[in-house]
Amino acid sequence: MQMKKKLITYCWLLCSSLIFIFLSFAAGSQSGHHILNPPSTFASGGQNPFYKKGSGLPKIFHWEGLDTLFFFVFLREPSWLKTGGGFRHIPVDLQRLLIAYPDHLVNAGEHNTLIWKDGTRMTFDDGITSKDFETLLNEPDLEDMFHMEYPPGKDFVFQENFDPGRIRFEPFFKKMYGRNPREVEKKLVPVRWLPKTVNKILMVTPVNGVDKKLQAISDQLEKIPHLHQYIDNPAGTYHWRKISGTGRLSPHCFGIAIDINAKPYADYWKWSHTGKKNKNLKYRNRIPWEIVEIFETHGFIWGGKWYHYDTMHFEYRPELLIRR
Ligand SMILES: [Zn+2]
Repeated sequence: MQMKKKLITYCWLLCSSLIFIFLSFAAGSQSGHHILNPPSTFASGGQNPFYKKGSGLPKIFHWEGLDTLFFFVFLREPSWLKTGGGFRHIPVDLQRLLIAYPDHLVNAGEHNTLIWKDGTRMTFDDGITSKDFETLLNEPDLEDMFHMEYPPGKDFVFQENFDPGRIRFEPFFKKMYGRNPREVEKKLVPVRWLPKTVNKILMVTPVNGVDKKLQAISDQLEKIPHLHQYIDNPAGTYHWRKISGTGRLSPHCFGIAIDINAKPYADYWKWSHTGKKNKNLKYRNRIPWEIVEIFETHGFIWGGKWYHYDTMHFEYRPELLIRR
């Protein structure tokens, strides 16, 4: 009798496991797996220069059925999957960081930790979900940088407090580009902006190839004469300063941002708004789309897509231009 009971239990376990394996394979083939694949293009349509074929992402051992079986029999997740399972358990926005900054970050397969090549670890998600707009700006974690999805291409909607890219986890940028003016400045290199027509020297960081990308943007823009009036007198790149009226560092501190001509076509929310602070802003932009598109193709986001708009501002944020 005892024997029979055991046999029935084992049969039941086996059958259920097989069903689970089947179901997990079926689910796996339909969804979820696309996040394992590196993006082949940036959203604005250009080839993604940040991913080299065959070099970036690890091939991982990935069999949905095996861990399902393990879970079912032992009622817990196998530990090797939690720690060494590649991208599978990593939030998609953490994966975007790993893909965007391969020179600095390693994929150690951890769920909530960003790991740098030198072993530095940063928590991705602090678990606080109730941050209001000001708190998101002033006390973000890495995950909050993706709180508002930057809309690549032309279809962006102007809406209150929608500022994709304005949320920056400062320790991440300090670690990447330098913690103070001295550290950033010793790395800066010159870019010749529109060398055949303007030939202005702009100092930017070479980290992540930002200098080369800005040079490529310059070369592309120089070939389009009707755009020169917007870009032939850029207002600045590197400048260690706080964002006016805040305690936060400007992205210009890290040598990753450029302001194109301030006059006469730039618009800034603080110049244009009427009424209460941050309320009822009236959108205005006179920067041609062609310029934005070229910057986005090279990993730069545009401040003209913010509710608190700054239409002369571009900054290197490839993680926001990688498709989800
Ligand atoms: Zn700027």
